[in-house]
Amino acid sequence: MERIKSKEAFLEAEKYIPGGVNSPVRALQSVKESPLFIRQASGAELTDIDGNKFIDFCLSWGVFIAGHAHPEVNEAIIEAVQRGSSYGIPTEAETLLARLVNQSFPSMEKVRFVNSGTEAVMSAVRVARGYTGRNILVKFDGCYHGHADHLLVNAGSGVALIQNASSAGVPAEFVKYTVTLPYNNLPALEEFFLQHGKEVAAVIIEPVACNMGVVLPGNGFLEGIREITNRYGALLIFDEVITGFRLAKGGAQEYFNIVPDLTTIGKIAGGGFPAAAFGGKAEIMNRLAPAGDIYQAGTLSGNPVAMAAGIATHHILSREGFYDELEEKSNWFISGLRTILSGKDVELNSIGSMYTIFFTSGKVQNFTDAKQSNLNRFGSYFRYMLKNGIYLSPSQFEGNFLSIAHTQEQLEKTLDKTEQFFKKV
Ligand code: PLP
Repeated sequence: MERIKSKEAFLEAEKYIPGGVNSPVRALQSVKESPLFIRQASGAELTDIDGNKFIDFCLSWGVFIAGHAHPEVNEAIIEAVQRGSSYGIPTEAETLLARLVNQSFPSMEKVRFVNSGTEAVMSAVRVARGYTGRNILVKFDGCYHGHADHLLVNAGSGVALIQNASSAGVPAEFVKYTVTLPYNNLPALEEFFLQHGKEVAAVIIEPVACNMGVVLPGNGFLEGIREITNRYGALLIFDEVITGFRLAKGGAQEYFNIVPDLTTIGKIAGGGFPAAAFGGKAEIMNRLAPAGDIYQAGTLSGNPVAMAAGIATHHILSREGFYDELEEKSNWFISGLRTILSGKDVELNSIGSMYTIFFTSGKVQNFTDAKQSNLNRFGSYFRYMLKNGIYLSPSQFEGNFLSIAHTQEQLEKTLDKTEQFFKKV
């Protein structure tokens, strides 16, 4: 498979864009590849500018649960954009999407739209601090909550690939109220709360971690966090930027039946446009300006084209049987993977339509376990699949995603190629 045009495009991009990309993992550095430049996508298929086709398991990092370029979403956004692409004045579409979000996530009694998951989390944390009058934020190692300064501590996703799992340019003072604890370790959280519980504004968690690869919460972990936060009057923030509308229509909170105080959503919620949201109990959210004294704003927040994409996507997800079909497809594929990988010195973590193959033989229950993975072996698997027309999420510390648009033929090919790779090595 030739990728001459992509290589040329990358050289040109490097002249004007740092590292040639607008988000680090896209550069494919950790898997020792040069990036793809995409011309178009449809369903579960990407086409690069050389005309090569790839079955996509990254799906714009989990966004396209219904497939790329869904005709109903496209129709809705074209209709919206013809009426103007932004007004900086309210539209009814914002209320409609907020109502739909509330119907899927009853804990999000009030919702505010922003432009990215980063912004949603940053704002939710500000609300939590303003509401509780406390400063400390507890997060978990390997969870990624966007690139705001105070959240880049022991973070997963692309940050996991740089030394210290943190970033230059973040003064120590800016992160002095961020405490990071091991995932799936309730005693560590309990011990921290014993000392500092009354100073904690919030605990933020990816209820299923997806940014150190997919890591499931152990039995009682989420329930335990809910109980501890309640006991000490700290808020619980579920960062459902990935799990929202994916694990279930009502996200991980529906799946695990746990009610957080605040929730952040993004990705699927914006139907492929830069839209995300945070929300929670009305009493907390009403502290936001102009109703209250916690400031938060955005020129393009609640953008009408993004709202149209979100509403159209929501209608697709609301169809009877959508999640059943996705689950059936995912179960079939992931159990196929499990059979192929058994005895192969790798660990497959999965839930619903998300999975990661960790190139390590031990159980992966936290960031320390995930980091035992052999990144060279992961890289050779990624490259083998790419060469065979399959685009996986390009890092060990990310999840892969299925969509309703993946065809049986595409899934069978992916299983075949995986089997061939493991036979070869
Ligand atoms: N929170 C989680 C759980 C994420 O996975 C991400 C991004 O991948 C973010 C927040 C940040 O979202 P964005 O990249 O839209 O800023």
